[in-house]
Amino acid sequence: MTINITFNGKAIQVEPGQTILQVARQNEVNIPTLCYHKDLSPTGNCRMCVVEVKNWRFLQAACVTQVTDGMEIETHNEKVTKSRKLSLQLMLANHPQDCLTCEASGECELQDLAYEYKIEAPGWGTKGTRYTVDSDPNPFIRVDMNRCILCRRCVQACAEIQVRNVWGVARRGIDEQIVAGADTTMLEAHCESCGQCVAYCPTGALSNKMSYGKGRRHQIKKVPTICTYCGVGCQFDFNVKNGRIIGVSSNPNSPVNGMALCVKGRYGWDFIYHPDRLKKPMVRQYLLDGKTKPTHYDPKCPDWGWVETDWEKALDITAKKLGQTIDSHGPNSVGVFTSAKCTNEENYLMNKFSRQVIGTNNIDHCARL
Ligand code: SF4
Ligand code: SF4
Ligand code: SF4
Repeated sequence: MTINITFNGKAIQVEPGQTILQVARQNEVNIPTLCYHKDLSPTGNCRMCVVEVKNWRFLQAACVTQVTDGMEIETHNEKVTKSRKLSLQLMLANHPQDCLTCEASGECELQDLAYEYKIEAPGWGTKGTRYTVDSDPNPFIRVDMNRCILCRRCVQACAEIQVRNVWGVARRGIDEQIVAGADTTMLEAHCESCGQCVAYCPTGALSNKMSYGKGRRHQIKKVPTICTYCGVGCQFDFNVKNGRIIGVSSNPNSPVNGMALCVKGRYGWDFIYHPDRLKKPMVRQYLLDGKTKPTHYDPKCPDWGWVETDWEKALDITAKKLGQTIDSHGPNSVGVFTSAKCTNEENYLMNKFSRQVIGTNNIDHCARL
């Protein structure tokens, strides 16, 4: 069953139960939003998506208003535009005027709308001088509530996606503020540093400390990849500047995880450049020299030292030692342990290698632990 509405002067049929915003997006009409995100419950608090419905007393927030039969909706008339401009002015009045140095510049939804609606900050208001910058001591998330527009996307992302309920809204009127827990630190409010709140924040109020100041949106290349930490297979984008990874951002098209990531996937990327990271295979010196294994382990003896070698040599030594073990003790003396950090194809090959090349069913996978 469909209902009939008039949308920007055009008669159309739509499914009942949809919001005006959904209908607009289906019909490729751009209604601006700030607090709305398709992954989160709509709240209608930023008032950017207001539209005029004929014979209704006030402008309506399109994200929370359902279409009804016979409705006549206008999304872009003078009254609506005036209201959106006023809402933007109210936000900018108490907002820092420093897009030039703001981390979010170039991917800030407030900046984009101010540009689209040609809004300049009014002469009144606090201009974002009310809160301490980088006020939370957590290791990953930079909090600057001067840039907050009280859209509550962080509150919802934490509650609805991560189910941690860290963020909430405190006080009223001009003093209204997003706070962690009962106005404490994020970690004290049981934040688990997943960074979902940062991913959904439309401004520079929440940003990533590890990437801060390292590159702007237009300077980075987004490279989709799969997380190597576990077998879930979350997808995200590496942010790469001049060939070097400077951070991770959610890729909304990820089939497994959407925008969600855990702390390891989002903030555990710096191991890539850690000086202790092994980049070449290493073998004991006595193996490289073709000597027999010393009878006692002595960490000071050079024969036991680890030395770098090439893959060909390392695989030769491994194959030889495996062959010797199978010859002396049989195939079931060997066990194969594979990893969620490998691809499915690599794990499949190890399965074949274990059962058909070595001849043992002693194979297991770390994801079963
Ligand atoms: S949060 Fe957005 S509008 Fe505010 S200073 Fe940063 S880039 Fe500009
Ligand atoms: S990092 Fe995750 S758990 Fe912590 S406040 Fe943000 S969404 Fe909530
Ligand atoms: S911190 Fe960001 S997501 Fe949260 S209410 Fe402020 S602007 Fe919105």
